[in-house]
Amino acid sequence: MRIITLEEHYATGALMASQRRNMQQGSSMPIGWDPSKFMNRLLDIGDSRITEMDDAGIDVQVLSSVGVEDIENEEKALELACSSNDYLALAIKKHPARFGGFAILPMSTPQKAADELERTVKEYGFKGAMILGHSRGRYLDDRFFWPVLERAQDLDVPLYLHPAVPPDAVVKASYVGNYSGEVANILAGPGWGWHIDTATHILRIILSGAFDTYPRLQLIIGHLGEALPFMMPRTDHMLPAKITKLKRPVGAYLRENVNYTVSGFNYTASFLDLFLQVGSDRIMFSTDYPIWSMKEAHDFLDRLPISPGDKERIAHSNAERLLQI
Ligand code: MN
Repeated sequence: MRIITLEEHYATGALMASQRRNMQQGSSMPIGWDPSKFMNRLLDIGDSRITEMDDAGIDVQVLSSVGVEDIENEEKALELACSSNDYLALAIKKHPARFGGFAILPMSTPQKAADELERTVKEYGFKGAMILGHSRGRYLDDRFFWPVLERAQDLDVPLYLHPAVPPDAVVKASYVGNYSGEVANILAGPGWGWHIDTATHILRIILSGAFDTYPRLQLIIGHLGEALPFMMPRTDHMLPAKITKLKRPVGAYLRENVNYTVSGFNYTASFLDLFLQVGSDRIMFSTDYPIWSMKEAHDFLDRLPISPGDKERIAHSNAERLLQI
């Protein structure tokens, strides 16, 4: 069975340096995490990665990096996004059967971000873009960003919404509490906040009517739906079209405009909840490498109590259709 993975990360020294805010939270990575090993894996998009993919039975990684959303200087953000995309394109060119790519975009200049998306899709065959959550406190429901949504729809490529540390005001109000700073960091980040912020972000995009304006736009989120499946029936019930003034129920957008990946959330009960809410046509495999192990993720996929047909869809055919890969 062909295995395609969609949330697989790389970095460059320049990208790491630009992401101090999110990398700070890297200090709160899972127990047993070896920072130097992690860095070597993150920086390699060549032979060592491919050897590891072979060992784990992974055929294709669609690569992505942390973005430039945190960079205040617009020119610097554009320059770093373009040079990183060029660098990724070279690695893909060397191993076209094994790697695909998501662009990073200078979201603070949406027209330029849309142009960079188009350039990387048309010149390099990129599969879409990865957006690192909010852009310095602004979310995609803001019409400011809609040129990017429009271009993604026109190019027929998805946008992958990746978690980021919530804005400082949110961290201060919701996550700092009667516990250590380390605990607060994890709570605001990988232990809760990253995911909740992404779930809220998706709901904000839906409620803004962006999908009524761009009905063919497809988004992807990881981590088994960032806690949305659990809340889906409730949110759907509490926000009917009568109140939202949208063309469809909230749940319809979540099932028709959003796609979901596993991203190393190898949790059977959480998977089954997503599976029951959105069905096997909307779920794609991914491992969140190098944070999580490709091998463990593949074992999880093998063990899932679903039919062989559903497994095929999740392992490769949904990605083949959505990404034309
Ligand atoms: Mn990730």
